[in-house]
Amino acid sequence: MKIIVSIALVGLILFTGATPATAEGTGQLPLAGTVVTGFDPPDVAWGAGHRGVDLSGSPGDTVVAPAGGVVIFAGVVAGRPVVVVSHGELRSTLEPVEASVPVGTRVSAGDPVGVLVAGHACSAPACLHWGLKRGEDYLDPLAFVTGSEVRLLPDDAAAGVRERAAERERAAQSSGDTATVVVAGSGALSRPSAGAVTSVFGMRFHPIFHEWRMHNGIDLSTGCGSPIRAAADGVVTHMGYDASGGWRLVVSHGIVNGVDLQTVYLHAQGYRVRAGDRVRRGEQVGTVGSTGWSTGCHLHFSVKADGRQVDPQPWLG
Ligand SMILES: [Zn+2]
Ligand SMILES: [Zn+2]
Repeated sequence: MKIIVSIALVGLILFTGATPATAEGTGQLPLAGTVVTGFDPPDVAWGAGHRGVDLSGSPGDTVVAPAGGVVIFAGVVAGRPVVVVSHGELRSTLEPVEASVPVGTRVSAGDPVGVLVAGHACSAPACLHWGLKRGEDYLDPLAFVTGSEVRLLPDDAAAGVRERAAERERAAQSSGDTATVVVAGSGALSRPSAGAVTSVFGMRFHPIFHEWRMHNGIDLSTGCGSPIRAAADGVVTHMGYDASGGWRLVVSHGIVNGVDLQTVYLHAQGYRVRAGDRVRRGEQVGTVGSTGWSTGCHLHFSVKADGRQVDPQPWLG
């Protein structure tokens, strides 16, 4: 019985491996811009929502195929120029885009398919709306680019972090340094936003759910669109959208003051960095917004020390 199951599994793996490159995590952004509006599919087919993502740009910017395929539509729909690229079972709708190639053109990922024009409502001079469909279902185009949202840190990167932690521990022990006391150390992190602290770490009466809940970070309130800055040098381990946190960014700072330190940034309008990018302390990584469960523009900032949520304030300089 076990043998049959194994054979079936091998068959499945082989079959999956043989399908065209339309799986999640194989695309690229069709425009070199910041994501200014995330994917927010409606609960019902006819409901309000945002059936794609908007990338900021300027009129005249080149729009490229997010993955290989064939241009299956190039024309005007409801007054807007639209280009549709079929990637096999998935297809990308790019608008407002004036096609630079005719219908039937075979394209590879990164090949130009048109030019961005103004017209899609957003905060930039022009925005590209990118929709991704499988049949009649709208998918999150960023999942197509970044892979599954749950896979925050590549396995080898996580192993690297553990390895570095172990190395430092060994070095500390061999040098007779026993002062591995975990101290927050003011100044280890710099303020990620200029806003005032409007909600502190701890239990609070939740502004949306109207009940007492743990607030696992601090809220810094400032104008929509103001800069979000990396609190310390590090590597982006996650950039993605989820219903509660909106646009979420996680930066790993490695071992700081003896602990594995991470910072988390929520509710942004968008980020200009992606998983794998290195960031410097103070570098602008995004803009303050009100995405997810949020009642107004603010940055929710939280700190994880060895995986546990801690009060960010003692860490800030
Ligand atoms: Zn849009
Ligand atoms: Zn908050």
